[in-house]
Amino acid sequence: MNYKKIFSEIDVELENFKDNGTIANYIPELSIVNPTKFGVHLTTINGKHFSLGNADEKFSIQSIAKVLSLTLAYKLESEKLWKRVGVEPSGKPFDSLIQLETNKGIPRNPLINAGALVICDILISHLKNPKKDFIAFVRTISGITTIDYCPRIVASEKSTGYRNTALVNLMKSFGNIKNDIDVVMDFYFNLCSIEMTCKELSQTFLFLATSGVLPHSKERILSKSKSKRINAIMQLCGFYDEAGEFSFKVGLPGKSGVGGGIMAIYPNKYCIAVWSPKLNKKGNSLKGIKFLELFTTKTQTSIF
Ligand code: GLN
Repeated sequence: MNYKKIFSEIDVELENFKDNGTIANYIPELSIVNPTKFGVHLTTINGKHFSLGNADEKFSIQSIAKVLSLTLAYKLESEKLWKRVGVEPSGKPFDSLIQLETNKGIPRNPLINAGALVICDILISHLKNPKKDFIAFVRTISGITTIDYCPRIVASEKSTGYRNTALVNLMKSFGNIKNDIDVVMDFYFNLCSIEMTCKELSQTFLFLATSGVLPHSKERILSKSKSKRINAIMQLCGFYDEAGEFSFKVGLPGKSGVGGGIMAIYPNKYCIAVWSPKLNKKGNSLKGIKFLELFTTKTQTSIF
């Protein structure tokens, strides 16, 4: 498949696309990113690369990193994990508090903020040096040794993280956070601050297109069943209260972040990453979703 040619065709089609989304301004450091940036990168499981636009510029991957923390926690805890976090779509914004009260501190799924905070708590309980060990895991998965946290973003999120602080406190009151709240918050903000390019993103998540095997080292990082289940969770929960619409339009499992990134998996074929900082009302990249919709339609590469 000539993906490069299809990228160019879509690029032309999107020339007059009205990108009336807004940049994430509740995190001060994200609000200063150039809103016109646009990048796409696709990596096939056989190591072929196709890119468009600003695909080699680093950006804050934000909640896309929640798939990586889930991967490590699932490896460490296996099915025990689901005692502390559910696998149901929330149908609510990513930072919503509303279901936590009725669900007695058990988040609906690991990809909303509440769920990711519980996953962070679990990782802190397991890891000797949580931040160091976690970034080492991300580097192993991606095969890229330069991937790192961004201290500027961490500080910026800490200065305005009121809702996340509320979520973690509410869960602590129900006994679903075991570690010190400040330690959990620090780990969570570091997780969200990880920076990657579109190319790095598409390489990093390729293991979810290969049923858990790292394409670059052939090491199995996750069992086939666990890889399937993470894809299932992304399909139903990866875009919060827009998960249905993403499935409807794009038809692939994926995950978004408020930095404007989206990665999506076509099992046994490729991982694609897009970056466009302006977000729709659900906190997902507006132009990014449009691009993916056109891409999976033209290539007929939906899982459905
Ligand atoms: N760091 C962001 C937050 O906690 C992540 C949200 C997102 O990317 N959807 O609000």
